[in-house]
Amino acid sequence: LVDKNSGAVAVIGLGRFGSSLALELTRRGTEVLAIDHRTAAVRSLTGRITQVAAADSTDLDALRQLGVADFHRVVCAIGSDLEASILTSSLLVELEIDDIWAKAISRQHGQILERIGVQHVVFPEHDMGERVAHLVSGRLLDYMEVDEHFAMAKIHPPKDYVGIALGRSGLRRKHGVTIVAVKPSGEEFTYATADTELAYGDIIIVSGRPDQVERFAELP
Ligand code: ADP
Repeated sequence: LVDKNSGAVAVIGLGRFGSSLALELTRRGTEVLAIDHRTAAVRSLTGRITQVAAADSTDLDALRQLGVADFHRVVCAIGSDLEASILTSSLLVELEIDDIWAKAISRQHGQILERIGVQHVVFPEHDMGERVAHLVSGRLLDYMEVDEHFAMAKIHPPKDYVGIALGRSGLRRKHGVTIVAVKPSGEEFTYATADTELAYGDIIIVSGRPDQVERFAELP
């Protein structure tokens, strides 16, 4: 059913995280094999993604029968059941999957998954908590920390930078940040240039070091 050589992804564990992952991959045109041992989870996704199967992912034979071993990329989206998460992940390592992603619900859980040999451990709850903290505490409309040293934020321009060309504003020298894109109200985003003049009501994307982006976003 699924063409495993086409960038298809197997998603194991169809809780809130796994099922939205499976649906989003599908929306982007990726073929997905989704697996859960709960029939309710399987039923709710049937017909909405390429293939859904009911199976216990801690059972090596079940994984083999579903063809999981042929996938280049597999996500273990089991979180709260630590034992199932660790057993499943270790079977994926045993099956020599090239690219294993697994969700962890704590730092210790993440360390175990890394030690087993999972290449990509993600912490969705923790990361989302950090992101929401930025959103609720400040004037940020959206915020993404690309890595430890680089962030992007969506904000309204501080008043000192309204009505002056970005090239003459001294913004980068004073604040260390760069305005990447601007969306005047009612229009689409365009790249910012040295000639761009911001207006009240614009939405801007500002990038730079996380602390500098945050400080810039706090300006009145
Ligand atoms: P979320 O917080 O994203 O809802 P959960 O950890 O609560 O994530 O959900 C994990 C999913 O993984 C559940 O749907 C559960 O039925 C499934 N799951 C847990 N153990 C197994 C297993 N051994 N085999 C298959 N699916 C499993």
